[in-house]
Amino acid sequence: MSNTARGYAAKNGSNKLELMEYQLKNLEANEVEIDIDHCGVCGTDVSYINNKFGTTNYPFIGGHEIVGRITKMGSRITDFNLGTKVGVGFFRGFCNKCSHCHDENENLCSLKEPTIASNGGFSNRIRVQANACVPIPDGLDYAKVSPLLCAGITVFSPLVEYNVSSMSKVAVIGVGGLGHVALMFLKKWGCEVTAITSTKSKATDAKTFGADKVIGTYDEKEQQKFSQYFDMIFYTIEEDLQWNNLLDLVAPNGRLHFLGLPKQEISFNILNLLRFQKTISASIVGSPKRMFEMLKFASKHQVLPVTEQFHFSKINEAIRKLEANELRYRAVLSWNL
Ligand SMILES: [Zn+2]
Ligand SMILES: [Zn+2]
Repeated sequence: MSNTARGYAAKNGSNKLELMEYQLKNLEANEVEIDIDHCGVCGTDVSYINNKFGTTNYPFIGGHEIVGRITKMGSRITDFNLGTKVGVGFFRGFCNKCSHCHDENENLCSLKEPTIASNGGFSNRIRVQANACVPIPDGLDYAKVSPLLCAGITVFSPLVEYNVSSMSKVAVIGVGGLGHVALMFLKKWGCEVTAITSTKSKATDAKTFGADKVIGTYDEKEQQKFSQYFDMIFYTIEEDLQWNNLLDLVAPNGRLHFLGLPKQEISFNILNLLRFQKTISASIVGSPKRMFEMLKFASKHQVLPVTEQFHFSKINEAIRKLEANELRYRAVLSWNL
């Protein structure tokens, strides 16, 4: 009985997730079992549910913003206690042998295993490698932690990786699930923060989250005032933009950094880069060590995503709102509402 779990599965040809029971794999010596309390719903889950990348195996159980308590430990686990509250993000395991794993950059391991590669967090119980788990610091609102484990680490990691400082001028394109968390972290990081949005109605929200300024993507005149201005621009949406115009907004030695996937492949005029030593880069999430730093920072500065809470049984409604762009701003599922 204790090897059984239940989760909300997408099945081939159906657009509704349904509750399914399944057997958990044996608990390995380096794994823990987690009783799940909350799990966030991320756009990536929905992409896999809809087989956007053509690689989804059905029945598919998504969910990679897992928050819960450790209820079982493999024989080699010494650094956790039963009952410890932990988070698990996009990866549930690593090879633990390669140079990236040894350097605590496990997110760069070529054998890393995505949490949703097998039954993920839209469930009541999961077994993952212990070193994929991050303890949740006291002082964070437990019900709001989930989106930090994907959206939060995605925007926090480049701040450390690329030495963004409190003197930096940073723009965030998009005020959505990812963008609103980016604005919050950047404000607390001490940066001058600008939101760039196509949605006029989000200007007030953007300022609440920490934007000092808001620019419309539709407002080319206003954008011209920010030529060569931003040390870092975070792209957090999925729309195609005027890429060379956007590069003009990047300051000398500055960086355009992709955290979202544009619809089309992109071409740039390299002259726009080399004349002022500009960089284009991209990343997703970060290592467990970096996730722990991020959670401690979020706890200290009370960076908390704006969430809508749903009981797990309302998962289809949460996904419908996400797809209709109606969420303000991230959905979190809970067994205890
Ligand atoms: Zn995600
Ligand atoms: Zn590795």
